[in-house]
Amino acid sequence: MTVQPIRLFGDPVLRTPAAEVVDFDKELRILVKDLFDTMKEQGGAGLAAPQIGVGLRVFTYHISDDQHGHLVNPTWNVLGEGYQEGPEGCLSIPGLAWDCRRHEHVVATGWNLDGEPVTVEGTEKLARCIQHETDHLDGVLFLDRLDAATRKQALKEIRQAEWFDGGLPVVKQSPHALFGGNG
Ligand SMILES: [Zn+2]
Repeated sequence: MTVQPIRLFGDPVLRTPAAEVVDFDKELRILVKDLFDTMKEQGGAGLAAPQIGVGLRVFTYHISDDQHGHLVNPTWNVLGEGYQEGPEGCLSIPGLAWDCRRHEHVVATGWNLDGEPVTVEGTEKLARCIQHETDHLDGVLFLDRLDAATRKQALKEIRQAEWFDGGLPVVKQSPHALFGGNG
């Protein structure tokens, strides 16, 4: 078990788009294991590689004992027209959560660590997780997805959070297509 330290809000790695995985090698296998171990240790529903300082397009998820795994180079598409509202959190913004609007039903495609194609279809928490984690691979945080009033409140709470080291909290204001489909 190799639990890695989680990068916190303010760390530039969280704002840097991650690179496509090209080599499905032993390092990738170790990365997926580290992500999974760290996610489980922290009790998270998902964890993306940039959150442990690795700029590769990989994330792990664990919604339940039946819904867990990893995706390499993921993309996703919307199924249906529904949305979900509900609290969302992030291991890189520990101890805080705010309501965030997400698609209700999505399907993600990508590869597993052996380079085999994988499809993951999910609603509710799994759909939220897929959207959240793929955002991380683009340097996007869920703060960017909050409505303006909630975002303002969120930044205030972050500035007051014990873990926040006083760095400049840079939030990108609506630069990303919110309902564009592909993460
Ligand atoms: Zn997150």
